[in-house]
Amino acid sequence: MAKRRKSSASVPFSMESLREEVDIEINNENKGSRILADLGSLNLNRLDHVSADVVLCSIIVKFGLSLVGSIAGVAPSLRVLPLVVQHQVLKILCPTVDEGDRACLLQCVLKLPKFPLADNNTAFHVFTPPCDRCSRCHSQLASYNNPVLVAYHHLNGASKGVKVSLKCNRCGIYYGYSKYGNPGSGWNLYDEPRIAVEATDVCFVQRLLLRWHVSLA
Ligand SMILES: [Zn+2]
Repeated sequence: MAKRRKSSASVPFSMESLREEVDIEINNENKGSRILADLGSLNLNRLDHVSADVVLCSIIVKFGLSLVGSIAGVAPSLRVLPLVVQHQVLKILCPTVDEGDRACLLQCVLKLPKFPLADNNTAFHVFTPPCDRCSRCHSQLASYNNPVLVAYHHLNGASKGVKVSLKCNRCGIYYGYSKYGNPGSGWNLYDEPRIAVEATDVCFVQRLLLRWHVSLA
């Protein structure tokens, strides 16, 4: 309910003023319903010339804030992956969402410059190399195996995640989440700090959680 427009001190209560206020409320609700219906009816495959704000509102109306926020939260990781791998990852993370809707969601979310509510509390996590190009020859990295479902333990509990490694086909260098190299030339850590530690092949732990755990031991 909207706030009363004028204080009762300045306008004495009357049935007429109450009726006027109710009419305004109903009118505002009708406007809101029409806006929601318009946003829900947008064709998400034809939004090239629509502002990012409208795209964001439209996909939230269609798919819900939780799903959109979760996918938007992993958008920076998805961006380093080849397109075909992006779709594979999303299929693992939200298998119940229709394939067409997944493709549409991915396309829309990757267009958004920054999702205002995306943070580390999202339901999904995607562990990829921090780069999409080889540090030696600057070639585009390619996929070399299928994305793997992993468990992720963090300060807010546990979530499911997906791990993806890439490879430079020119240099034969593998790029994992936490290191890059190959068995012949050795392995290197990235300059960029990684928020999680790869505890096993299928389990990641938030670095901050690990620090707390060690300090409490
Ligand atoms: Zn290379």
